[in-house]
Amino acid sequence: MGMIDSYPKKPPFFSGSKLSCSKVCLMLYAGEVPCGCSEHVGRTIINDVYTADVETIFQLLFTDANFFRDFLMARNTINIDIGEWQEQTDSSKLRDLNYTVALNYSFGPKFSPTTEHQVYSSSGQPGLKHLVHTEVMNRNIPYAETFFVSCQYCMTRVAHDKMRLRITANINYRKSCWGVVKNLIEKNAGDGLRSYYNHLDSFLKEHLASHPAHCRTKHRRKRQRHGPRLRHRKTAQPAPSPPSPTHHQPTSHFGG
Ligand SMILES: [Zn+2]
Repeated sequence: MGMIDSYPKKPPFFSGSKLSCSKVCLMLYAGEVPCGCSEHVGRTIINDVYTADVETIFQLLFTDANFFRDFLMARNTINIDIGEWQEQTDSSKLRDLNYTVALNYSFGPKFSPTTEHQVYSSSGQPGLKHLVHTEVMNRNIPYAETFFVSCQYCMTRVAHDKMRLRITANINYRKSCWGVVKNLIEKNAGDGLRSYYNHLDSFLKEHLASHPAHCRTKHRRKRQRHGPRLRHRKTAQPAPSPPSPTHHQPTSHFGG
């Protein structure tokens, strides 16, 4: 899988001072930062600690970084179009992604045009946490109009060089359907989610292992000996992200 060495810099994701967290603020969070969600609806797909700071993971997944495009292409996803983040009056941000996911079934449709709607929560704090909610809609698959899959990405600081990525996914129904159909949707969507996120997890870990600079560990430790000067990196740049649909069966996002 072709990983890219450099990521083009784009305008900062956070322009205002409201979302910035000062070094004092970071110092107050010596321990793991809670995401603050009142609940996580659906099944937990990923709940793991990665060797990188929270800004790095956010940039890789939710800015227009090559990493995410590489990931989608590694899954044979084509026609990738990543929209720009648009700030809303409540400080949340929205963007849409469109791409066509390859389906792995031996019969039926081979591709599913997909739209992914992403909402960046206004409760995000650079250096501490980023929360993104996504809704993925597949077309050209059976029962496509019946359901969609939503995911909650909670990226939180664990330590200066560690962060937690927690992803929960839920299958949402737009209309009632027979039990047998629902079972089919649940199974295929579940398979698609596992395939997609297991791949993302390994792709991410492989990238971090080959790009240790993302952790900035040495640099920071050196500084901390002379006093904590934790500086959060400027965040983000608009980039691509998640799901993909799947199968010719009701699998929703995350192409298999
Ligand atoms: Zn959460």
